[in-house]
Amino acid sequence: MTYCRFEFEGQALYGVVEERGGEPWIVDLAPGMEEDLAYKLAHLSAAAWSFDFEPMPLSAAKLLPPVTPSKIICVGRNYRDHAKELGNEVPAEPLLFFKPVSSLLAPGGVVRMPALSERVDFEGELALVVGKRIQKLRTGEDWRGFVRGYTIANDVTARDIQKKDGQWTRGKGFDTFCPVGPVVSDGIDPDAGVVVETRVNGELKQHGSTKDFIFSIGDLLRYISAAITLEPGDLVLTGTPAGVGPLKAGDRVDVSIEGLGVLSNPFDAETA
Ligand code: MG
Repeated sequence: MTYCRFEFEGQALYGVVEERGGEPWIVDLAPGMEEDLAYKLAHLSAAAWSFDFEPMPLSAAKLLPPVTPSKIICVGRNYRDHAKELGNEVPAEPLLFFKPVSSLLAPGGVVRMPALSERVDFEGELALVVGKRIQKLRTGEDWRGFVRGYTIANDVTARDIQKKDGQWTRGKGFDTFCPVGPVVSDGIDPDAGVVVETRVNGELKQHGSTKDFIFSIGDLLRYISAAITLEPGDLVLTGTPAGVGPLKAGDRVDVSIEGLGVLSNPFDAETA
């Protein structure tokens, strides 16, 4: 299934997304996701689900981040060419860090470039959404049944602050630094290779394939879940290909992944 999360008559709802005439449409309401507090509250009142819903183009919906994770776990340097471009060794084990859930941003939302930073970079990434609790996934255990689907993320980074701080919490964690969406889909296979591209104001900056991952999705889920239990709805960002670079206020960043559409966000200066 491919689904989105959107605001409709004051409620956060999930919608089934299908192609109609070459365009993605929300064709019906989807069941909510169990981790979503808003969904749980809505179920206390059956009346909240008595909408007459008419199909609409995805482009006409007020989209929300399609996930409500308990945590966002990110992988640094998972493509050889990106590790090299920043002068880093290819890691022997995955390099993990968190982004806070307060950094989540909807498709189309404005990324606020903090006054504290002089260099804000884009990082287009494939992200996966956990579907079932993962605790100490074993070697050889099939991970696919634990994954609900895939989406697009932009791991926005204040590169100067990331370097200055020596750890990444602040540089990766500003409000609005995790745009995600527009949809979640189980219809792609990263192990077979999907293309991840990033454009700034329409100009191609990143072009990678998940075939070039240093660590596969299965490797990542085993490594992460050996230490940290992954809950339904949790988001795992799988790293960015080469080509990252700085942005300026007024830029627009489009991250596209085959089968998942385009995540598009404008960047602007922080407002006082
Ligand atoms: Mg990244």
